Amino acid sequence: MINTKKLDKLLLKAEKPARYIGSELNEIVKNKVDIDVRFAFAFPDVYEVGMSHTGMHILYNLLNEQENIWCERVFAPWVDMENIMRENDIPLYALESKDELKEFDIIGFTLQYEMSFTNVLNMLDLANIPVRSSDRDDSMPLIIAGGPCSSNPEPLYNVIDIFVMGEAEEVILELSNLYAEKKKNNLTKDEFLERACHIEGIYVPKFYDVVYNEDNTIKERVILNENAPKIVKRRIIKDFDNIYYPKKMIVPYINTVHDRVVLEILRGCIRGCRFCQAGMLYRPFREKKVDTLVKQAENLIDATGHEELTLASLSSSDHSCICDLSTQLLEKYEKRKIGISLPSLRLDSITFDLIEKLQEVKKSGLTFAPEAGTQRMRDVINKNLTEEQILNPVKTAFDLGWSTVKLYFMIGLPTETTEDVMAIKDLAYKVKDLFFDRPKEDIKGNLRVTVSAACFVPKPFTPFQWVAQNTMEEFYDKAKMLDREIRDKKVVYNYHAPKTSYIEAVFARGDRKVADVLIKAWEKGCKFDGWNEWFKFNTWMETFEEIGVDPDFYATRRRETTENLPWDFIDIGVEKSFLIKEYEQSLNACTTPNCKEKCSNCGINKKKIGGVCTRV
Ligand code: SF4
Repeated sequence: MINTKKLDKLLLKAEKPARYIGSELNEIVKNKVDIDVRFAFAFPDVYEVGMSHTGMHILYNLLNEQENIWCERVFAPWVDMENIMRENDIPLYALESKDELKEFDIIGFTLQYEMSFTNVLNMLDLANIPVRSSDRDDSMPLIIAGGPCSSNPEPLYNVIDIFVMGEAEEVILELSNLYAEKKKNNLTKDEFLERACHIEGIYVPKFYDVVYNEDNTIKERVILNENAPKIVKRRIIKDFDNIYYPKKMIVPYINTVHDRVVLEILRGCIRGCRFCQAGMLYRPFREKKVDTLVKQAENLIDATGHEELTLASLSSSDHSCICDLSTQLLEKYEKRKIGISLPSLRLDSITFDLIEKLQEVKKSGLTFAPEAGTQRMRDVINKNLTEEQILNPVKTAFDLGWSTVKLYFMIGLPTETTEDVMAIKDLAYKVKDLFFDRPKEDIKGNLRVTVSAACFVPKPFTPFQWVAQNTMEEFYDKAKMLDREIRDKKVVYNYHAPKTSYIEAVFARGDRKVADVLIKAWEKGCKFDGWNEWFKFNTWMETFEEIGVDPDFYATRRRETTENLPWDFIDIGVEKSFLIKEYEQSLNACTTPNCKEKCSNCGINKKKIGGVCTRV
């Protein structure tokens, strides 16, 4: 255990001490002597971000329901606290026991965003754990990682011992139990890694090597250990209705990004937008029954005292019983003034009645994500939204009294022209006109249309995994063109920094060669790269130069569909031939219907789940 008296004094100097103290409501503390496996769930960002992540709450409670496992939490200390810790020799510790991370058996990172990779390194270093797996002997904890960014694990191949591919609820227990056996039988780390390879969904990078062609593309992957599978299969939960869900969640002392109870109502998405990695990774579409969800809501509200309940998913309105579910929850919690929120809602006439009911008390702003300005561009990305389907709900919203609207777009989408970019402005102005073109007596509130333009980042396992990202010059030209052209006080325009999206693209589609750049950039002070105030673009570019890696090779290069991609050894269930077909369709602006309308044979039904993909 670290010196807590010393820590308590030092915490007075930190910006938000509550980030580092633990002891919140529903925290789980166990007796160390009864425990076989000590697990530290590590979130490579600050407490407020990590505590808002539902996956953390699920796995924390799931692991702690096992008598022989104690799972604790650790987040990236903000820079002020890191300095205090380094100056005073306080290693990174877990919040529950205040034991230093080095004492744990397993440290499990969740990789939600490529720009948090340097924080993984920084957290290991703060814990006095060597960042390279080859520098860690058997006395060191096992370092594992999962989450969406591990779908291309190669940029961290020399840091992480084991990647967990796919949905973690089952595999994390299998792995932890195997680790308990390892300890009981005094197995070496390598012996353990060999056995772990036999668990579906486990990838041990050190058991593989990669051979490159002269042009730096991948020639082949070589298996170095006979236990290692050629193809690693992503884990998918078959019985989603019965999958573990916590009865309680930890309640922080300070405001976090989302202070509310989260109910995961469905997994997967039927829509098939071609830029969306989550939509492909989490196939097939699976939903929970209303009764299950009402029961789970009850448990969580009773255990936390939160006054807001969020129904979370990639696309909430696609739940077949969303109206019934929301109505039941509304009726149940109306008197207790517990608000129900439904983000990721596709706004059409059915859901509008629902939103109105949900927001009777206070109308917060409405968010729409047309993603692109022209119909052609929306067809390229398979958004399956007409202009009418965008403007009608906006008009309904105005008629019902809303006056704050947010519109999300992407720039740099494949085949995009100047006309497509300018159409973003046109659409925003049409929204504005809808507000003022109504009878004067109906115009209430002060209109504010916020237009946000994100830079498109091509992601692995999407139909756009082969496309060239726009160069930074192209991004800036487009972003600034809109800045120049949008000249209306009612329309607020902002765009995401192209430089961040460029580095994100390098690590999203990087191979093993970017791993050393990552480590070097971190050594030179890169961390919290997702936070503008800490993002050091010049340091990144210097580091690419120093290591001799060309970032354009990963970000702005178009790949042939025949090229070996760094993540091709992972089987997510969706077939590559489907992604290629979707890519080709996109180039002709041809759309593909959603899974409820017609099955497109993505492959998930045949390869993974058997009869669960019921939309066929
Ligand atoms: S098989 Fe059809 S219904 Fe199932 S996930 Fe794929 S596209 Fe959707």
